[in-house]
Amino acid sequence: MNINLQELMDKQRAYYNSGATIPVAFRKQQLCLLYDAVRKNEQEVTEAVRKDFGKPEIETFVTEIGFLLAEIRHAIKHIDKWVKPRKAAGSLALVGSKSYIVPEPLGLSLIIAPWNYPFQLALAPLVGAIAAGNCAILKPSELTPHTSAVIANLCAGLYPEEYITVVEGGVDVSTHLLEQRFDVIFFTGSTNVGRVVAEAAAKHLTPTILELGGKSPTIVHQDAKLDLAARRIVWGKFLNAGQTCVAPDYILVHKDIKEELILKLKQEIDKAYDDVMGGSTQFPSIINDRHFERLAVLLKDGSLVHGGRTDAGRRLIEPTLLTDVEWMSPVMQDEIFGPILPILVYSEIEEAVRQVKSRPKPLALYLFTESREVQQLVLENISFGGGCVNDTLMHLSSPSLPFGGVGPSGMGAYHGLYSFEAFSHRKSVLKQTTRFDMSIRYGRSPAAVKLL
Ligand code: NAD
Repeated sequence: MNINLQELMDKQRAYYNSGATIPVAFRKQQLCLLYDAVRKNEQEVTEAVRKDFGKPEIETFVTEIGFLLAEIRHAIKHIDKWVKPRKAAGSLALVGSKSYIVPEPLGLSLIIAPWNYPFQLALAPLVGAIAAGNCAILKPSELTPHTSAVIANLCAGLYPEEYITVVEGGVDVSTHLLEQRFDVIFFTGSTNVGRVVAEAAAKHLTPTILELGGKSPTIVHQDAKLDLAARRIVWGKFLNAGQTCVAPDYILVHKDIKEELILKLKQEIDKAYDDVMGGSTQFPSIINDRHFERLAVLLKDGSLVHGGRTDAGRRLIEPTLLTDVEWMSPVMQDEIFGPILPILVYSEIEEAVRQVKSRPKPLALYLFTESREVQQLVLENISFGGGCVNDTLMHLSSPSLPFGGVGPSGMGAYHGLYSFEAFSHRKSVLKQTTRFDMSIRYGRSPAAVKLL
């Protein structure tokens, strides 16, 4: 790589230490600049994402631009409240003192982004970094080079490099960045690379937020409203051609309603994606040949009940439904990350819960049912990052909900206040009174020990 990383880090360290990023007015101003620049560059962003993997304009607006603008607006609106020290309760031994939790920036942050929502997954964490008063180095994905270039130009036009800068490149650049001593690393990507990042961070004991992937189950119970379930599953699964970290990975359906659900899923697919192969419905491509070939192999699993056609030249795969899939089938081993939806059945909800629980904790879980008992059983017994009852994906659109995984699907969370917290340290401060002193606190009497 042709930039001197050490020199860049030194410049950022000096800038951060100057205190320039601390005033809340400064942070707000930087967020406003970002907001205006995103609005001004909407067309460039849309075009870049289309060039990178054929994403339709409306999808780019909703899931990349609109999403990011909402995050920035939310941060600008709430930052005054977020930065304030919070009073904490005292205790009898602390009479006369006051306790506070003071948020402070962590310092130099590294943000590493994936390709699947290449614009917002790079810049939404940056909103948290700016709001919390950090400097940042941002590395977008090399698999979406057009969007990466737009992000680099946009940031270069807004911020001096000692404050925020974009370093473009692939694994070698990422590896080199991870060798440096940052104060926080925010990584979004696969679980395997998450391990690499955690290992590198351990060397400097750098706090790390890992936003990873996994196989997110979608349970459809006997009493679900099937029309709605089918529409919401088809939307959540095939958005971005299934290349969404929280996409329903597979369906677990009660055996009595399996056929009816499949029928409705097919109808919804036909309504939303009537001519993907002919080209009259715009549908994103699979990101590269390697992923296309990986997915093409999975199409051979179970029985094909809908879709299944592919076009290697355009890296297109039709929205596809598979049944007669076993837990041991290849398609059930790793995150699918493509427009293939396997359907498995269960007889008792307890059995479905047991199956999901015996696998790694997923990033998301979706449950369709009208029964409060079933909701309680599933929500109380299965650990997952976040999810919805009777919907898919929508939990991530709420700035009031922390978004993140658990165990192998990630650690830490962001969005809204949680982005601010991800890039902040909670400093505990106790202000002691000098108006009086309590001799008992220095003693060793049982009463004093009890007080403490
Ligand atoms: P990836 O892990 O291959 O790459 C992510 C980033 O890490 C890229 O910038 C890449 O250059 C870098 N990288 C890749 N290999 C590296 C290595 N060996 N050392 C250091 N850096 C490396 O992920 P991807 O293919 O870009 O994205 C898809 C994955 O991301 C899926 O698993 C998906 O579930 C997950 N994802 C998670 C979220 C979330 O919010 N939890 C969001 C989007 C995607």
